[in-house]
Amino acid sequence: MNTYLSSVIEHVKVRHANEPEFVQTVEEVLSSLEPVVEKHPEYEEADLLGRMVEPERMFTFRVVWEDDRGGFHTNIGYRCQFNGAIGPYKGGLRFQKDVYPGIIKFLGFEQTFKNSLTGLPIGGGKGGSDFDPAGKSDAEIMRFCQSFMQALYRYIGPDVDVPAGDMGVGAREIGYLYGEYRRLKGAFENGVLTGKGFSYGGSLIRPEATGFGAVYYLENVLKHEGESVEGKTIACAGFGNVTWGICKKAAELGAKVVTLSGPDGYIYDPDGVVTEEKVGYLLEMRNSGRNKVKDYADKFGVEFFPGEKPWGREVDICMPSAMQNDVDYRQAQRIIVSGAKYYIEVANMPTTNDALKLLMSQPHMTVAPSKAVNAGGVATSALEMAQNSERLVWTAGEVDRQLRQIMDTIYKMSVEAAAQYGLGYDLVSGANIAGFQRVADAMMAQGVF
Ligand code: GLU
Repeated sequence: MNTYLSSVIEHVKVRHANEPEFVQTVEEVLSSLEPVVEKHPEYEEADLLGRMVEPERMFTFRVVWEDDRGGFHTNIGYRCQFNGAIGPYKGGLRFQKDVYPGIIKFLGFEQTFKNSLTGLPIGGGKGGSDFDPAGKSDAEIMRFCQSFMQALYRYIGPDVDVPAGDMGVGAREIGYLYGEYRRLKGAFENGVLTGKGFSYGGSLIRPEATGFGAVYYLENVLKHEGESVEGKTIACAGFGNVTWGICKKAAELGAKVVTLSGPDGYIYDPDGVVTEEKVGYLLEMRNSGRNKVKDYADKFGVEFFPGEKPWGREVDICMPSAMQNDVDYRQAQRIIVSGAKYYIEVANMPTTNDALKLLMSQPHMTVAPSKAVNAGGVATSALEMAQNSERLVWTAGEVDRQLRQIMDTIYKMSVEAAAQYGLGYDLVSGANIAGFQRVADAMMAQGVF
């Protein structure tokens, strides 16, 4: 490997030795950039890569909240402002018990490339807390969000840093966070957060956007092979907001999602999560806070596989849409044997690096990377920001049209970037290169810091 690239990776390994997820994403992205760095010696002269792998800044703060019995609890809050070269920092907040700096940094790094790929003016950021929302009452969630914002508000703003949702943070949490921000600032600056409720500045289609965008991207992939979504079977993971959007759009286009998963196992529904009742039930499962996919099996009388993952089921398309490192080397082997032709990442970094390499080396398979496939969510957040700053509301049709166009462009840019560097049809490297290029140009133009 190029000596400059390997020295940057070595530095990250030493400096972030206790943050394996972050090291993993840096290795994956940087190894794609080899032909670019070879062609542009000026990047090494300006230590561009060495700068890109360090967040511009990262905040840690204490979040104290009171439970319903009057007991106090202390959690840690984070906000990582990874790269602001092309726009205000933008990215979600994750509330989950195993959140620690390595998770926030890997997500912030990915976000920088993803946001760049959207073609919109948004830099990369991410935040969250090790707070576990499972089993908390509504009032406890509200008090936690208020306390979290009391610390966060001084670091964010519509032109500074615009958080949104991620795992554990949906419209309810965004509502409480925004209410507290408004109370503290005494101003209706609703462009400070996205994923808001429609009544106070949220965008139509934002709840659906990540899942819809993933299916629009998939349509491009299938078209390249002379196929279409209609009639395809899809294995999904998780049952949250993203999976819900995929089920909804897939059903609309005549395809069916046949698996869902949770921390308790997975379900197999041969008829597909296609009816309005079934798709709607995913929202109920999420709102119940139980975090159990078995509830779906009980309700609709389908098979439940405790403690197992859906990978290896015979389907046309795998869309890991739950969380990082869901598919390891062994799972990847099962997917290959199952005969699936398309491996479309949806969750951030759902595949370990060795599993990703294995899948990409299969001549019968097409692999697409999450930073391109799931970019429709944050892209629609940027559309929400545009509506907020214009003091306008766009129709669902208008937002959906723009979302589709953005996803088509991301696909096309990825294909072109890989071809330009002689890599052939490589959607993974293409997305890394295309995402990198725009941030690199902006950083080079803005001087060294
Ligand atoms: N958390 C989502 C993501 O990873 C959405 C971020 C946003 O809308 O800012 O892209």
